[in-house]
Amino acid sequence: MTTIGLSGLDALPRRIDRLDELALDLWWSWNPHARNVFRRLDYTLWRATAHNPVRMLRLLPPAELEAVARDPAFLDLYDRALRDLDPTRTSTKSWWSERVPAMPGRSIAYFSAEFAIHQSLPIYAGGLGVLAGDICKEASDLGLPLLGVGFMYPQGYFHQQVSADGWQQESYERLNWADAPVTPAVTPGGRPCVVTVPLGSRTVKVAVWRVRLGRTKLYLLDTGLEENAPWDRELTARLYGGDTETRVQQEIILGIGGVRALRAMGANPVVWHLNEGHAAFVVLQRMREMIEQGRSFEAALAEVRRTTVFTTHTPVPAGHDTFPFQLVDSHLAGCWGTLGSHREAFLSLGHYDNGSGPRFNMTALALRTAGRVNAVSRLHAGVTRDMWAPIWPEAAPDQRPVHAVTNGIHVGTWVAHRLGLVFDRYLGGDWRDQRDDALWDRVLDIPDAELWGVRQELRRYLLDFIRERARQRWADERVGAGRVLAAGTLLDPNALTIGFARRFTEYKRPELIFTDPARLGRILNAPKRPVQLVFAGKAHPADDGGKHHLQHVYQRALDAAFAGRVAFVDDYDLHVAHFLVQGCDVWLNNPRKPLEASGTSGMKAALNGVPHLSIGDGWWAEGYSGDNGWLIDGGEHPDRAATDAADADALYTLLERDVVPAFYDRDRDDLPRRWLPIVRQAIRTVAPRFTTRRMVKEYVEQMYAPAIRASGYKYTEETGDRPVSP
Ligand SMILES: *Cc1c(COP(=O)(O)O)cnc(C)c1O
Repeated sequence: MTTIGLSGLDALPRRIDRLDELALDLWWSWNPHARNVFRRLDYTLWRATAHNPVRMLRLLPPAELEAVARDPAFLDLYDRALRDLDPTRTSTKSWWSERVPAMPGRSIAYFSAEFAIHQSLPIYAGGLGVLAGDICKEASDLGLPLLGVGFMYPQGYFHQQVSADGWQQESYERLNWADAPVTPAVTPGGRPCVVTVPLGSRTVKVAVWRVRLGRTKLYLLDTGLEENAPWDRELTARLYGGDTETRVQQEIILGIGGVRALRAMGANPVVWHLNEGHAAFVVLQRMREMIEQGRSFEAALAEVRRTTVFTTHTPVPAGHDTFPFQLVDSHLAGCWGTLGSHREAFLSLGHYDNGSGPRFNMTALALRTAGRVNAVSRLHAGVTRDMWAPIWPEAAPDQRPVHAVTNGIHVGTWVAHRLGLVFDRYLGGDWRDQRDDALWDRVLDIPDAELWGVRQELRRYLLDFIRERARQRWADERVGAGRVLAAGTLLDPNALTIGFARRFTEYKRPELIFTDPARLGRILNAPKRPVQLVFAGKAHPADDGGKHHLQHVYQRALDAAFAGRVAFVDDYDLHVAHFLVQGCDVWLNNPRKPLEASGTSGMKAALNGVPHLSIGDGWWAEGYSGDNGWLIDGGEHPDRAATDAADADALYTLLERDVVPAFYDRDRDDLPRRWLPIVRQAIRTVAPRFTTRRMVKEYVEQMYAPAIRASGYKYTEETGDRPVSP
């Protein structure tokens, strides 16, 4: 057994004694050889554990491990995976090292309240977390010395059940630590890393866990220690679960505890990247450190500005945390330290009045203290400049310092296994390295029959998954027959399948497609041209409006008028998302413009040859090329109701005139010759541009490089294979 091994596990056979190490490094989840190690280890368990190798190793009988240790085919996979893993962790030759040859001991810190890396680590709610997780993975692929900082959340985000009348029920499960790919973080001195954070007049202890993702390390904070009072143990138990008071304390722990955890681990970041305002208290702790070393408030603030990067993610006001000053002041009471005499000056950095009186605003704090700020699409950058105009009273609108770095997705994580095999054949075995954007042009070489074969297979694979889930629910939970039906058991494996999966909330308009039920019914039930809709997504526990939308969609799934062609898959998570973005035929996205800052699920779909049918908001305003999907454009209207009606009409018209006819126009070989060019263009245009490969490079070039140079390190511009700027 290796020292980083799994506790409580019998010794592994010697020949495969690094299998636990592989299971504990989530790098396995996007490396095809490493994935195959665990698929092959025991395929039934692989599926039964929803791809959790840590749990698999605990459940496998020793005899089975002995057997694979003698299986040459298994050993070949195992050896290849480890041959890839070691250089991933330690190689000094990478995209990053060509630009920043020497920065020994320095790192990039990336703070986020959630990270979506794998379903076995339930510390995420949705898009924000997926972005953070995909960045960590890409950072490893590109060789960045990235250290993520977030929360452990032993109860994670809630699990969703839907009652017979469609009302969302929330339940929290306690993480089984033995099944999670985490280990205690150990300081350079060899001790388990535990730091303290002053909260009000008390001190809370924070344990630090470590997750490995190839080169990237992720540190997760957890107050669930015996030494803490019961209420303090609960502070980091759940993601977005508490009230305002819990929230402000969580954010103090993330900001102040996060900096302390990095220090305890011996880290010395050059760049401090705040993903959303939740982590903005990082600047407080850093200024305090500097002031204690003798710098002035102004000098400390200038240094923080020079080295802080901030990404803002939403134009929806409720997406930005604000607190009453008194609440912030009282919980920070013990944090002021030497900063005490500057308390007023610090609090004013967060001062913001959005019309309902001044509050302490985490986004305002981040905007005022980060030297580089970015929004997550070009459209969103414009919206952000307007939305936060009072922060830069002097600047003309186009001078307000907000960069646009459009979001992306991590290719290795989101591409379907079967489609990856086709890419291997036609794009060349090194397509995963994405060295050359032009390689995606070779998607045009994939023969129609082969491309269609994969698309059909992926749809059937999704419907198998949906049916098995419904069967399990029925068998295990004895849900009523209606719920079995609503879960998608009547879906047709050959019908045009439209997916809609994302958080249920007002601005995403989940019910838009039901605006005219009769017209929709004609589309879904057309003879020989059936169309079906698969929905999934959670509403935030406090968002009753979102729950009502969910309930209405659920009632449509139960409505005989739609004949079983509308389904709702419950408990949307990364696992469900993989099946949906890979297995549908069309990905529907109809937010109220311009409220979708970027959106990423449509990128995942397009990468898999599932064209986007979307409002021209967020990334689609840049991504739509005319032949890679469809643009829903109802035009501009003075009021919401008129906009919604026009967008719905535009959506129906696209379905009736373009989408359904192209899908069902088959030749003698039953191939949809008009459809497949759209599939190819979706892949070809999205894969080189809307991935974390392009995005992380832009972060480095536009956002990190100035801080790196200002710290006295050499940063060399990329030449040659420049990333394509969208
Ligand atoms: C990609 C993803 C999201 C984000 O979807 P959007 O379309 O950007 O809202 C949310 N949840 C999960 C599980 C995802 O995989």
